[in-house]
Amino acid sequence: MKDSNFLKEMNARSVWHPMAHPADCQANPPTIVTGAQGVRITDVDGHEVVDGVGGLWNVNLGFSCQPIKDAITAQLDRLPYYSIFRGTTNDAVIQLAEELRDFFEPDGLSRAFFTSGGSDSVETSLRLARQYHKIRGEAGRVKFLSLKKGYHGTHFGGASVNGNANFRTAYEPLLAGCHHIPAPYTYRNPFNETDPERLAQLCLSALEDEIAFQGANTIAAFIMEPVLGAGGVIPPHESFMPGVRDICSRHGILLIADEVITAFGRTGSWSGSRHWGVQPDMMCTAKAITNGYFPFGAVMIAEQVAQVFESDETGRAAIGHGYTYSGHPVGAAAAIACLAETIRLDVPTNAAARGAQLHDGFKSLMEKYDLIGDVRGGEGMMTAMELVSDRSSKTPIDKATIGKIQEETYRAGAMVRVSGPNIILSPPLILSEDEASIILSALDAGFASVS
Ligand code: PMP
Repeated sequence: MKDSNFLKEMNARSVWHPMAHPADCQANPPTIVTGAQGVRITDVDGHEVVDGVGGLWNVNLGFSCQPIKDAITAQLDRLPYYSIFRGTTNDAVIQLAEELRDFFEPDGLSRAFFTSGGSDSVETSLRLARQYHKIRGEAGRVKFLSLKKGYHGTHFGGASVNGNANFRTAYEPLLAGCHHIPAPYTYRNPFNETDPERLAQLCLSALEDEIAFQGANTIAAFIMEPVLGAGGVIPPHESFMPGVRDICSRHGILLIADEVITAFGRTGSWSGSRHWGVQPDMMCTAKAITNGYFPFGAVMIAEQVAQVFESDETGRAAIGHGYTYSGHPVGAAAAIACLAETIRLDVPTNAAARGAQLHDGFKSLMEKYDLIGDVRGGEGMMTAMELVSDRSSKTPIDKATIGKIQEETYRAGAMVRVSGPNIILSPPLILSEDEASIILSALDAGFASVS
C-alpha cells in the first residue's frame, strides 16, 4: 500500500468529498480507512478504533458479516446484473420483495419499488405521492410539507423538503411548493417550550395551521423521519408521529416515513414507524438494507396506496420513473442475506440495550463537562450531544474545539461523527457492552483534552 502522506496528497489533488469544502482536504486531510473487522476500522497509519458511526448509519451488522459477503459473490457469479424495467425482472428481486412484504406487514406496507440509495428512495416517494393524487383525480395536490431540521437526501426533491439551510442555499431555487414546520426539538424551538409533550402539541398545531394556510387540497404529502437523524438526533415525543398520522389522514395527505436510518432496527424497534405505533403510506429505506455493502434502497408502499395504482384504468398509473440499478440482483441478494441476519441476531434488542448505555454515558459526561449543552437519543442506537461554549446562552461551540474533541476521541479509540455543533453516535447494532464503554471513555478523553 502507498504511504499515508502520499495518499493524502493524491486525495487532496483528485477527490472531491461530499459535505466538505474542496479546499478543506488540503488543510484537514480525512482519515484514510483501509480495513475493518467486526465493529472496528483500521486507518492507513495502522490505528484501530471502534466505529461509533457505523459507516454512515448503515453498517448495522458490522464489517464482518460473512453471509452477506457470500450472497454478493454467489450472485455475482450467477447473475451480476439484469434490469427490472418493464419486460424483464430477476429472481433475486422477486424473493426480496416477498421477504420485505412479510417483514413490513405490521407497518401495513406490501409493495416495494427499488432504488439505489436513500436520496433515490425519497425522490421516488415524492413522485409517487404526486402521481397517487393525479390518479385519484386530485391533480391540485402537488405540495410537500416537512420538518425544519429534517434531512431527506440530496436530490432536488429531497433537498427541497430538507429542513437545514446548509443543504439548500447553494442549490436554490429548489422545488416550488415545499413548506416546513418547526421540529419537536426541545433544546431550541421558536415556542421556547421545554416540555416535550407540550412542544409536540405546538408543532402539531403548526402543522394544522400550515395545512389551513396552504389549503389541504394543494398538499400531496408530509415527509418526516421518525427520529430526526442528520439534523442532530431529535427524537420527538411519543405523541408526535401518531398526531401527524391523524392530521394527514383527516386531510387526505399522504404520510411518508423517511426511514433511511431508522428501518431495520436502529430505534430498538424493527422500524421507526412501528416504534411510534404508526402506519405510514410510504416508507423510504436504504442504508442498512444491505448493511452498507451494496448501494441499494426500497420504497415500501401501503396496501391502500398500491390499490389506487393497480386499479387504475386510465393509464395515469404508469410509473414513468426508475433507475438503471432499481432491483439490482446483487443488491437484492445482499439485502436477502442482510434481512435474514438482522432477524436472526434480533438487532433491535441489542440496539435498545446499548443505546440506553450510550445515552446514560452521555448524561454522565454532561455532568462532567460544561461544553455539553444537551444530550439526546435513548430511542435505540441513535445518540447525540449538542455542544455549546456557554450553557446559559446556548452559544454553539466553535468548529475548532469540536474538531479537536473528535480528533482526540479518535486517538483514544473511537470514531464519532460531528455534524454542526453535535457529536453523533450511530454504531453497528451488534456493538457489545465493552465496545460501547470504549466509545464512552474515548469521548471522555476527547473532552478532557480541551477542558
Ligand atoms: N434520508 C435520510 C433520513 C437520511 O439520513 C439520508 C442519508 N443520511 C438520506 C435520506 C439520503 O440517503 P443517501 O445518502 O443514501 O442518498
